Amino acid sequence: MKKVRVCKTCDRGEKETRLQKCVICHGFYCYKCRVRKFGKLFCSKVCAELFFFGDED
Ligand SMILES: [Zn+2]
Ligand SMILES: [Zn+2]
Repeated sequence: MKKVRVCKTCDRGEKETRLQKCVICHGFYCYKCRVRKFGKLFCSKVCAELFFFGDED
């Protein structure tokens, strides 16, 4: 089975852009959609905030 990696925000694939894996949600994101916060990169603002607040649930 072939797994196609796409940016979770814009749906662009690896052929169109460079994808990186989000450390929070393990989803992929491209350089256009990435969010930089606290010197780290995330797929979205939501994940950046999760990283900051932690998961003390
Ligand atoms: Zn994207
Ligand atoms: Zn994420």
